[in-house]
Amino acid sequence: MTDGAFAPEAAAAGDRRGPIGTYLDALHARLLPLRDGDVARYIPELATADPDDFGIAIATVDGRLYTTGASDRAFTIQSMSKPFTYGLALKTHGVERVLEQVGVEPTGEAFNSIVLDDVNNRPFNPMVNAGAIAVSELLPGFTPETRLAALLRFFGDLAGRPLSVDEAVFRSERDTGHRNRAIAYMMLNSGMITAPPEEVLELYFKQCAIRVTCADMAMMAATLANRGTQPVTGKAVLGPDQIRDMLTLMSTCGMYDYAGQWAYEVGLPAKSGVAGGIVAVIPGQAGIAVYSPPLDAHGNSIRGVAVCKAISRDFGLHAFSDRTTVQTVIRREYRVSEVRSKRLRSQAEAEALSREGHRVAVLEVQGALFFGSAERLIRRLSDLAPECMAVVVDFKRCSDADPAAVRLLAETVARFAAGKPELVFTHVPAGHPVAQLLPGGAQDSGHVHTLPDTDSALEALENDLLSDVFETADLTRFALARIDLFKGLDAAGLKALEGAISSFQFDAGARVVAEGDEANAFFIVASGAASISVRLSDGQRRRVASVGPGQSFGEMALIEGGRRTADVHADSAMICYAFSIDRIRQIAETKPEVLTTILQNLVISLTTRLRHANEEIRNLV
Ligand code: GLU
Repeated sequence: MTDGAFAPEAAAAGDRRGPIGTYLDALHARLLPLRDGDVARYIPELATADPDDFGIAIATVDGRLYTTGASDRAFTIQSMSKPFTYGLALKTHGVERVLEQVGVEPTGEAFNSIVLDDVNNRPFNPMVNAGAIAVSELLPGFTPETRLAALLRFFGDLAGRPLSVDEAVFRSERDTGHRNRAIAYMMLNSGMITAPPEEVLELYFKQCAIRVTCADMAMMAATLANRGTQPVTGKAVLGPDQIRDMLTLMSTCGMYDYAGQWAYEVGLPAKSGVAGGIVAVIPGQAGIAVYSPPLDAHGNSIRGVAVCKAISRDFGLHAFSDRTTVQTVIRREYRVSEVRSKRLRSQAEAEALSREGHRVAVLEVQGALFFGSAERLIRRLSDLAPECMAVVVDFKRCSDADPAAVRLLAETVARFAAGKPELVFTHVPAGHPVAQLLPGGAQDSGHVHTLPDTDSALEALENDLLSDVFETADLTRFALARIDLFKGLDAAGLKALEGAISSFQFDAGARVVAEGDEANAFFIVASGAASISVRLSDGQRRRVASVGPGQSFGEMALIEGGRRTADVHADSAMICYAFSIDRIRQIAETKPEVLTTILQNLVISLTTRLRHANEEIRNLV
């Protein structure tokens, strides 16, 4: 750690900006006395910069800005504009056209060197002046004015606020930038550019003279870190392919002839400018910007380099300090023998599921799927294939999948010949890359089913398992004696109950019981299924259980009477037998054992459910 980093006293004093703000303040205080180097003088207007101006800003991918020092001081962007303009050219023309105009090879030479790639007839890369001037020719628009407007609009979109040109700096460079003029004419001479050089140069000089602050630059970098979407405005400014190409060139060529040393010590894609700015990107995390005018011999801000070295080292940000974890891709794995759906089951069914449930496995995927994590997942799927009837893959916590992962998954799935084991994907929102594997998707191999949630997948698969074990379970063929709730009743008791039955038919979706209703009957499902759900505080419903043939619901009315505490909806067309509580009590007047037996069974079923719930909690921890 840098001296003074994370000063605990400051944290204890309750600095509202937290440990990162405190860290930046300490870093700023430590580096301010560094008075080496000199401000750029070859553009006269830049020579007027105050060498003690010093600002640092970090912007996160969700738009949180941490700043210290002169982070709001305006200065000209200079060469920090180059990767962004390159991005606009890529966005406008596509990579092939852009590669005709400019290469991707580092020069190892100074930013203003007059070396060109004669073999390929193009400048070496867009991060040195020659390449950037050639890229200026690719800006969208038909007149210099519309091109400048497009450029400013694009930079403003990246920064999240309108930006403008510092006319004094522009004029100063235009009047003195004869070296760049020489480069432009040389490129015209060899056909690397075709537009009039003065027109191209005017745009290039204006691009370099765009006025920014550290906060702007950190936001522009955060937009790159955020895959091209501006963190605050949410505007999608660039696509991931463009970002990748821009970051590559920043990594290899962004720091002039210091690029190799920079990659070694800092390891972040970055770009510097002769006005004293440095901008760096931490992909997926944040953007960093520093402003401090004195430069070293390479033309890089001395304090800027020191700041980036410290931040990279102190927070472990080097691109090659690996922090990807592939081990955690399977968040949890369980079988139906351990964790069942919310469907209430008879004791016999529950026993059958404990016995047979190992044939249905659930894999919960978490994080992003890419080569390494996808390899873990497909390996586990292949291991499970021989022993399982079905595997449910739950994508609820799978944030993303890259094309390589989708391809690996598609090939694995296609190998599960003839649908064995059955694969069920759950929680795959439309637009998730994995949706391509689902029926109708681009890579649909016909071997995957999908259900919205894991609970309904488990319920369906449990039903399949049970239909292997039991014959069809319609109550129309059930004797009342086979229902758990009536177990132990003698013939006379059952006969008395039969007289108390009234049967009801419900369409799919119909509400059978409403929360708050008077609870004066309980129900047994004869055929079909129903879901029991409660309303959450945000108005949404959550399914807490479901019932099918032979299962009862609303039986708490026997104990409490009172009001219903949940809604019950028919999941499909359903026939139910209702038992009025009053009738049961009437029967109990002459046959008290009817009520006591039912209550005893109810207690047994509640204890079993509780024990099962405890068991599930244990299995899911
Ligand atoms: N406008 C400057 C030039 O062309 C940019 C140089 C830089 O920032 O590296 O000289």
